[in-house]
Amino acid sequence: MVVPVYQVSTYRQLEPGVEGPYVYSRSGNPTRTALENSLASLEGARYGLAFASGMGAITTVILGLLRRGDHVISVEDLYGGTRRLFDRIFRNFGVEFTYVEGSKAEEFEKALRSETKMVWVETPTNPLLKLVDLESVAKIAHEHSSVVAVDNTFMSPYLQQPLKFGADIAVHSTTKYLGGHSDLVGGGVALSDEEVYEKLRYAQNAAGAIPGPWDCWLVLRGIKTLAVRMDRHCTNAQRIAEFLNEHEKAAKVLYPGLKSHPQHELARKQMAGFGGMVSFYLKGNRDSYKNLLKHVEVFTVAESLGSVESLIEHPSSMTHASLPKEIRESIGVTDSLIRLSIGIEDVQDLIEDLSRALDQI
Ligand SMILES: *Cc1c(COP(=O)(O)O)cnc(C)c1O
Repeated sequence: MVVPVYQVSTYRQLEPGVEGPYVYSRSGNPTRTALENSLASLEGARYGLAFASGMGAITTVILGLLRRGDHVISVEDLYGGTRRLFDRIFRNFGVEFTYVEGSKAEEFEKALRSETKMVWVETPTNPLLKLVDLESVAKIAHEHSSVVAVDNTFMSPYLQQPLKFGADIAVHSTTKYLGGHSDLVGGGVALSDEEVYEKLRYAQNAAGAIPGPWDCWLVLRGIKTLAVRMDRHCTNAQRIAEFLNEHEKAAKVLYPGLKSHPQHELARKQMAGFGGMVSFYLKGNRDSYKNLLKHVEVFTVAESLGSVESLIEHPSSMTHASLPKEIRESIGVTDSLIRLSIGIEDVQDLIEDLSRALDQI
C-alpha cells in the first residue's frame, strides 16, 4: 500500500556495464520514480520529474532548455524567489527577461522578440492573484515556437491542469499544497513532450538538484489527501474573502472566487476551484499591518503557503522584500497589502481571529 523509502545511493550492476533499472540515486531512485509518476498522472502528463525544491525545479528547466541570448517573457508579480533567480542569476549567463502584466494576453504578444524561447507564467499570480489566460497565452507563444511553462504551485493539479490549456510544462513547489503539511521542501515538473522531457531529465541528472527518498515519500503521502485538503482550503478561503469584503478595515480584497474579481469568469473556465490564497489591502496608516500581524492568534505569521495551517504575511517586507521598492510599488505590492494562506481549520475560528485582530487597528 505504501512505496518504501529506498535509502540508497548506488545499485549492484548485473555485470560490469550491464545496468539494472537503477544505477545511482542522482540518476534515479525507486521512491523518486513513484513520485515522478504520480506528478505526471496528477497533471495529465506523460512524464514527471522531482526536485529538491521548487527553485531547483525552476533552475533545472531554465538550464535544460535555454542558452545565452535567449529571451523569456514572464509576469510582473512573479514569485519573489523566481524573479530573483531570473534577474540576479540567469541574467549573468546572458538569458534575458521581460515582465508583463499577466492578466493582459496582448502584453505577451507585444513583448515577443525573435529570441523569445519561453513564456513563464504563474496563475493566479503571487501575491496579487491576477489570472493569466492560459489558452490565449499558449496560442500566442506557440505561434512563435516558444515553450510555455506554468508554475502551478498556487492551484495544485487538483484545481488547475495547465497542459489541458496548451501549456507545455507544469512546475510545482511541492513544499506547498502537494506536500501540504509544512514539513518538507521539494519541487516537481510534469510534461508530455518526449524531446523536452529528455532534455530536462538530462539536466536533472547533470545539475543534481534531486530530492532524497524521504522527502519523496512525504510528498507521496501528502498527495493522498490532496483532494480533501484542497476542497477545504477553497471553502474556507471563499468564506474569509467574503468576510473581508464586508469588513470596514479592508480597502480591497483580491480573490478569484469573488464576483468582484475582474477575471472571475476566466477563473471559472480554467480553474476547478478558486484556491486557498486570499490577499487584501488594509485601510489605515503604514503601520496598520504590524498591528494586525501582532494580534492574530490562530493565523501564524510566516512565509510559505499551501499547508493545513493558516498563515498570514506582509509581502512587501517578507516574501517580496527581495524586489526593489520601486518595482514593488509600481505593481501594487504596497505596504498595506496582506497575504493569507488559508488552512483547513474550522473557518469560524479563522474569521473570529481576523476579526479580533482587525479591531486592534
Ligand atoms: C514557494 C514557491 C516557489 C519556490 O519553491 P521552493 O520549494 O521554496 O524552492 C516557486 N514558485 C511558487 C509559486 C512558490 O510559491
